[in-house]
Amino acid sequence: MHTWRRVRITVSSITLVVVSALFLDITNRIPPSWKAVVTALQFGPALIATISSIGFVVIGLLFVTLLTLLFGRVYCSHLCPLGTLQDIIIWFRKKNYKHRTFPFHKTNYFAHYSITALIILSAVGGNMFLLNLFEPFSNYGRILSSLVRPFVIGMNNIAAMLFTSTSAFGVAEIPLPGVSMWNVALPFLFLLLIIGFTVWRGRLFCNLLCPVGGILGLLSRFSFYKIRIQNEACIDCGLCERVCRAQCIDCAARTIDAAACVGCFDCIGSCPTDGMGYTMQRRSKPGSAHTIKEEQDRRILLLSLSSVLFDSTGLQTIVPPSIPLLSGYSEAKRTPVVPPGGRAQEHYEDHCTACHLCISSCPTHVLQPSFLEYGFAGILQPKMDYNVNYCNYDCTICGEVCPTGAIEKLTLPEKKLVQLGKAVFVKEDCIVEVQKKDCGACSERCPTKAVKLVPFETTLHIPQLENDYCIGCGACEHACPTTPRKAIYVTPNVVHQTAKKREEKRVEPQEATPQEFPF
Ligand code: SF4
Ligand code: SF4
Ligand code: SF4
Repeated sequence: MHTWRRVRITVSSITLVVVSALFLDITNRIPPSWKAVVTALQFGPALIATISSIGFVVIGLLFVTLLTLLFGRVYCSHLCPLGTLQDIIIWFRKKNYKHRTFPFHKTNYFAHYSITALIILSAVGGNMFLLNLFEPFSNYGRILSSLVRPFVIGMNNIAAMLFTSTSAFGVAEIPLPGVSMWNVALPFLFLLLIIGFTVWRGRLFCNLLCPVGGILGLLSRFSFYKIRIQNEACIDCGLCERVCRAQCIDCAARTIDAAACVGCFDCIGSCPTDGMGYTMQRRSKPGSAHTIKEEQDRRILLLSLSSVLFDSTGLQTIVPPSIPLLSGYSEAKRTPVVPPGGRAQEHYEDHCTACHLCISSCPTHVLQPSFLEYGFAGILQPKMDYNVNYCNYDCTICGEVCPTGAIEKLTLPEKKLVQLGKAVFVKEDCIVEVQKKDCGACSERCPTKAVKLVPFETTLHIPQLENDYCIGCGACEHACPTTPRKAIYVTPNVVHQTAKKREEKRVEPQEATPQEFPF
């Protein structure tokens, strides 16, 4: 096996295992800071995070950009988990249909660059729908967290049952998160699309729909190292064209399309005469076939960008308008609660790519995928679901792992004062009023004592809210036992506010009273 290919297989396997572990870490053993380091190397999320704030992710973004400028689109075969998933599908296809190869197919750059430009422009304009639909890391994350993670939890729970039945307690049972139809259906449909595209034409997704592939493909046109066919060694056997998964080798013309090449290096290893070289770029002579092709590429790029930039009517027809939000059991439930660090609904919606890393990492599972609560553009972006659980007062994990900056990293003291929403108490629904008996579940759970019990009808106690101290964590709503409506529930703050801080009462040290020795 050729060295470059061996390196590719090693690096992509490690990346796939490490990235998968982030989403399948059902016991939350991986520290959030490690997750942040791994995701900093994912181009899509790192780009979004860098645009909104300069953090350490900029190092990851620079690294991938420099890597591409030096070695071409190697990111797509080494660091992109969705790319490796496609390579695994291709491997299975080759095992079963050895004679069916992917012959050279001219990449449709007009379509790919138009789609990439459209995705970027609509994201910059605040509509994340297309980016969320095609961004590769987020799609891979959703496939793992929605389709594979429940299966892993199920296996864990079977093991826990077996252990318990043999009186060994090495594995603990983990509650299976509730699964909504859309949260499973959309990643499943995407997985079918990827399998279909890959079986049909190899890395077609990467060279037609993927926005990261579009950007890196552009950069790789100018990369120093490129795979080239050495004319003097080539015997026109066509083996390199047959193994190419990106359909970018035209053996008859002895050319390799660098912008479509995903750097898998299969062709180098396949050549029987060592006629493929991974070498530094040569300057093309003016008027040569290469120079003319580069000129054509540039023109295609400018044409596709300008068609998107200036055809504003086209943009409006393709980017779907927000559709009315679904109604809930109360007016408040129409607007989703944005997680702590999300700052405001607008900021959050404009940055979240719905990768679901926060959902996989949230220890209480209060973060759940939305459906249309953020509108069509925000489909599957996470929301706080207080039916499932509530936000842990001492936790900042979602902000630590979010790779795009949609949820910003907060210190624990900051997080404890971020007010996501405010609780509303409906006395007429409360058990104390309706059934004339004490409850107090909400007050017991409230971490800030924003809800406390006050005397009611001589012998009873009823909740009373001090909303300035409420942080909207949902502990009260989750604990409230009334159905079908909660007697206490959180109304979201569309822009997060700051809650009042309780003055800590100093407890004066008591003077020790001398006691007599008891015996
Ligand atoms: S801060 Fe709250 S929402 Fe975020 S991960 Fe922790 S418990 Fe979940
Ligand atoms: S908020 Fe959650 S789903 Fe959205 S980008 Fe951040 S980690 Fe991914
Ligand atoms: S949402 Fe409920 S539990 Fe949380 S701080 Fe407000 S009143 Fe307390």
